[in-house]
Amino acid sequence: MGFEEKMQEIKGYLRRIELLGNAMGVLNWDLEVNVPPGGVKGRAEVLGYLSGEMYKLITAPEAGEYIAWLEQQNLTDPVHKGMLREMKKSYERLVKIPADRFVAFSRLTSEAQAVWAESRRRNDYEMFKPYLKQIMDFEKEFVGYLGYKQNKYDTLLDQYEPDMTTAVLDKVFGDLRDKLVELLTELRERGKAPNNDFLKGHYPADKQKALNREVLKLMGFDFNRGRVDISAHPFTTSFFNGDVRITNRYDEEYFLSSFFSAMHEGGHALYEQDISDELYGTGLATGVSMGIHESQSRFYENMIGRSKGFWEYFFPTVVKEFPNLSSARPEDMYKAVNTVEPSLIRTEADELTYAMHIIIRYEMEKAFINDEITVDEAPEVWNEKYEKYLGIRPKDYSSGILQDTHWSGGMVGYFPSYALGNLYAAQFLNAMKKDMDVEELLREGNLEPIHQWLKDKVHKHGAVYTPSELVEMVTGEPLNPQYFVDYLAAKLRTVYNID
Ligand code: ZN
Repeated sequence: MGFEEKMQEIKGYLRRIELLGNAMGVLNWDLEVNVPPGGVKGRAEVLGYLSGEMYKLITAPEAGEYIAWLEQQNLTDPVHKGMLREMKKSYERLVKIPADRFVAFSRLTSEAQAVWAESRRRNDYEMFKPYLKQIMDFEKEFVGYLGYKQNKYDTLLDQYEPDMTTAVLDKVFGDLRDKLVELLTELRERGKAPNNDFLKGHYPADKQKALNREVLKLMGFDFNRGRVDISAHPFTTSFFNGDVRITNRYDEEYFLSSFFSAMHEGGHALYEQDISDELYGTGLATGVSMGIHESQSRFYENMIGRSKGFWEYFFPTVVKEFPNLSSARPEDMYKAVNTVEPSLIRTEADELTYAMHIIIRYEMEKAFINDEITVDEAPEVWNEKYEKYLGIRPKDYSSGILQDTHWSGGMVGYFPSYALGNLYAAQFLNAMKKDMDVEELLREGNLEPIHQWLKDKVHKHGAVYTPSELVEMVTGEPLNPQYFVDYLAAKLRTVYNID
């Protein structure tokens, strides 16, 4: 069989995985958006069955044979190299971990998620503690099967951020933490905090929806190839680049919550809508990592949505929907959306303190996996870190160690992606500014060149390049947290009237 012929066979196999994934995606989306309470159990069974089929497909004997064949070829095309890399990764992960341990872990995490929700509601850490211990034990067991080079935590990180290591993150996050603590102190001691009282008001959900539609159109979200629905937590999902869906929720006391979620999910959605048609059937028609995906959502939510130029252009559109804001100036909005305030809850944090929430979780996860803390000590360690980095201390478990769902779902190693997203985004912005006057384009409300730049440099490539390759290609250097610190310091010193 010739090279092209074999490649077509492999692509046919990868296409079957994509199609099954697509069907599961629709069922998952429907579960979050439409399924009535009585249908949840039945849907879980369908999804469980399809997960089993997916497992069989990924670990099928021909997959091992395809990987071996690809490894013998002298691959030069980046798409072919990417195919091999991604195929090998998902195959090895599944064949190295015994199937019965996978099943046990998946049972544990579905139970743990329900227990976590209840223990958070009751502020009862003891209730969740045995589950947390078992989950961390499982993660360590998996690392045992998969192996590691330097730090056990690297293996967990790699699932969400390929190539990222604890050695790099220790340096990057350590540096970031020190500089952000310094900036926070400066704002507190020398700055004048914005006044946000003018935002108080009533904001009907239908008006929020109309406004969010305007901003999504401005960003370049294609409503012909996407839609917006309602769910408990906003998310983005994609069934090919021709059907990319986002969800949102509406708080009638505070429209900015749904507004920034729309920009955030819209950023994820642009990435998925822009992926090249040619990548379907290669396993690469998806975002390359959680961190790069998050860089696109944060870029739109923060670098665009919290910029001065954007509000100068967009504020009149907001006033049209919400006349109660007519006496405010664009400048007031710009300042209000950039208020910094250390708080206990990650999901409500501002741009500066958000990174600190992530660094705390990173330090805790790394310590768990390397047996440096026990589940008994964990809540106190958590609280001490909040006191030390943010100057505040949780009064209960619910606003402390029990606040996030990730650990109960077995997603250990995921948190760093959130902070990496901010760092990549700032580095991309810096590179973009060399090619165009971003602030001027925002003032004119012309977001098209910005979108086109991201499409050409990042989006269309899907998962062809690893995150580190992509960052070097786009910006000419490896990940450098200084761009984020500089971006934030410049903006916040203006907002807080420090010269
Ligand atoms: Zn996101």
